[in-house]
Amino acid sequence: MPENCIFCKIIEGNIPSSKVYEDDKVLAFLDIGPVNKGHTLVIPKLHCETLFDVPDELLQYLITKVKKIANAVMKAADAGGLNIGVSNYPTAGQVVPHAHFHLMPRHAGDGLRHWPQGRYAEGEMEEFRKKIIDEL
Ligand code: AMP
Ligand code: ZN
Repeated sequence: MPENCIFCKIIEGNIPSSKVYEDDKVLAFLDIGPVNKGHTLVIPKLHCETLFDVPDELLQYLITKVKKIANAVMKAADAGGLNIGVSNYPTAGQVVPHAHFHLMPRHAGDGLRHWPQGRYAEGEMEEFRKKIIDEL
């Protein structure tokens, strides 16, 4: 466990958190800076920097908990919808380098916007399709 990982400190109880779920592999707690009230973070107890570092078996377990907790968050927040987000690496906006799922309840007219969308130039979509397939 890296000494200065804030989420590992939360897991160990050295930093307080508003826990909503805990078992031997997973912890879920309220985000201190909520997009909307009820915004919850779900993390593996194993320190993994990004989603790509979470072992498959643990990730499979984690996603079942994300599903269950997200459903509870949505109901508790009386939300009409819910976004689930994971940022990987600082370039993508990851601030805390311990993999985490954001469960963000959404309300009609809450003003939150998704990412701006761009367009492909002629032939570019096919180029990216092939590049991704080559990496799989
Ligand atoms: P990210 O930008 O995806 O790395 O998200 C990190 C999230 O952790 C942010 O939404 C923060 O508000 C949240 N956060 C940071 N420190 C704490 C803390 N001590 N307790 C709860 N949430 C935290
Ligand atoms: Zn950690």
